[in-house]
Amino acid sequence: MKEINQEEIGTLYIVATPIGNLGDITLRAIKVLKEVDIIAAEDTRHTLKLLNHLEISKPLISYHRHNEDIKTDVLIKELKEGKNIALVSDAGTPGICDPGEEVIKKCIEEEIPVIPIPGACAMINALICSGLNTKEFEFIGFLPLNKKNRKEKLEEIRNASKTIILYEAPHKLETTLKDLKEIIGNRKVVLARELTKIHEEYIREDIDTLIEKAKDLKGEIVLIIEGGERKEEDDFSKLSLEEHYTYYEKKGLSKKDIIKQIAKDRNVSRNEIYQKFIGKN
Ligand code: SAM
Repeated sequence: MKEINQEEIGTLYIVATPIGNLGDITLRAIKVLKEVDIIAAEDTRHTLKLLNHLEISKPLISYHRHNEDIKTDVLIKELKEGKNIALVSDAGTPGICDPGEEVIKKCIEEEIPVIPIPGACAMINALICSGLNTKEFEFIGFLPLNKKNRKEKLEEIRNASKTIILYEAPHKLETTLKDLKEIIGNRKVVLARELTKIHEEYIREDIDTLIEKAKDLKGEIVLIIEGGERKEEDDFSKLSLEEHYTYYEKKGLSKKDIIKQIAKDRNVSRNEIYQKFIGKN
């Protein structure tokens, strides 16, 4: 039986590929890659190596972050003409810190079927073997590089009680760990490295210890951060606005940051809080 559809309108298959170990390609992924008309790939040369290994030969279209707009239109046109397309990224699941979101949204708008072909994804595999809470977690991906956005994201991590998952490049690891330490304090972190590869490793330490080791840690990295404990003192509904303000003032936050944080804790607009503290230094 054919895996793919034979209708007049094509289907977009979102195909996960290995994150290191080629044995992690699924039987269904191979079947779909063999049967589609076109493969859209983040890096066609990279995907060609996988296809050669699987002895599959198909027309390839490049679909990467810098041509997503133009190539989305090209893929939509082909799908409307009845072509079935498999979208793959360099490694793992497309759309997870990889191109894919644009064309998927457009397909949904145009009522073109989109089907996932599940497989490897670094963050899920790092999480499941981390030993940390897997019931509630938040995937952040790469921290923003922009200073302001980065600080906001780090503050979000500080306030989260869920497990947090980050992706990071090895040459930025030390800086990221130092930024984490500065804003969230010395929490427990699991560093999952080179998953599914020969040098696969889990390092379960606190942030301070990881900072010392960071320079020697090469390869692909996922950071799993233990969720912060919700302390009694963090139940802000019990505090008056003044007490809430003083709480953050003692932590050394600026007036602007205090207002932002109170608004967030109480789920009200910043302006509402700002009005209450006009004239306060
Ligand atoms: N789409 C991919 C997925 O499904 O996980 C992620 C692509 S993102 C551009 C690349 C990042 O994923 C790397 O910087 C690293 O943080 C993480 N990653 C990918 N492969 C990995 C591996 N084998 N071990 C650890 N982390 C990995």
